[in-house]
Amino acid sequence: MSPRAAAEATATARANIALAKYWGKSDVALNLPAVPSLSLTLDGLVTETRVRFDATLDADRVQLDGRAASTREAARVVRLLDAVRAACAEPRRAEVLSANRFPTAAGLASSASGFAALAAATVAAAGLDWGPHRVSALARASSASAARSVYGGFVELPAGSPGDAALAAVPLYGPDYWDVRLVVAVTATGPKAVGSTEGMERSRRTSPYYQAWLDAAPRSFAAIKRALDGRDLDTLGRAMEHSTFAFHACALAADPAIAYFRPATLAALETVRALRDAGVSAWATMDAGPHVKVLCAAGDAGRVQAALDATAGVLDTLVARPGAGVEVRR
Ligand code: ADP
Repeated sequence: MSPRAAAEATATARANIALAKYWGKSDVALNLPAVPSLSLTLDGLVTETRVRFDATLDADRVQLDGRAASTREAARVVRLLDAVRAACAEPRRAEVLSANRFPTAAGLASSASGFAALAAATVAAAGLDWGPHRVSALARASSASAARSVYGGFVELPAGSPGDAALAAVPLYGPDYWDVRLVVAVTATGPKAVGSTEGMERSRRTSPYYQAWLDAAPRSFAAIKRALDGRDLDTLGRAMEHSTFAFHACALAADPAIAYFRPATLAALETVRALRDAGVSAWATMDAGPHVKVLCAAGDAGRVQAALDATAGVLDTLVARPGAGVEVRR
């Protein structure tokens, strides 16, 4: 069989949550992160993407969640397809069908699982035998967090020096390493106020705390990695909260301010503090959005979820466990 025989492939990938936060790019054109990040891939939050190269198509066709992708969404997908086509002189256009099988309004990163699945499916459909490192670098060029979703469990994405086009994520521990849970408290519906890319760029240009964030982030990252090595939830949780609030402080100090906090966000953060006062090792993180995600031991997840469900303004909760990396079938 020629290596080009496979024309279609399907990949599934899962969302991830950064425990050590990513905020800021060192190279916007190559989409390289300015700080190292460390994440947990989450079970149950799955994107499934099918890519089929077809000589009869005269343009790429992209469907997301059963509808035609918007011009902007399609352009991001086509950029990745073009990168793969250029790497293997594949002339055919492709049909891409993708579905984010998330619980409604989960408030979790769809670009991470979306571009990890797209990268893996495109590479396989093109008949390329790329390892996960190269697939991760391809996904990273579209969405830095997607580089991490290529792997399951606990994953590092190093900071990228400008020009480092091969930067990829590095798997640290598989999903069975540590029986933790991430409890998500959804605090709003609709798209976030300021997109991550725009928020990072505005922070870099205008926030007096941007350089302070770049200085602090590697220290939080190192503390989180060390705590992960020792499965020390209290130490990891504390460093994770510091990483979260340092990046939000940087964003808040941008001009105009980038404020993702809603009243229910603050209420959920209070709930987490109250849980800790009551002896539960529960620790909060937030991404570029108003939702609160709480890391805890598996045995505490029920109590944490009940407390968040009872918090004013929390619309929905869900519990995720560590999940697997990208999976491909032809
Ligand atoms: P999020 O926090 O959900 O990752 P972003 O604004 O960073 O939010 O990314 C959302 C964008 O990611 C969408 O507008 C779309 O362009 C892209 N995206 C989401 N899901 C998919 C998918 N399954 N396949 C391809 N692109 C996707």
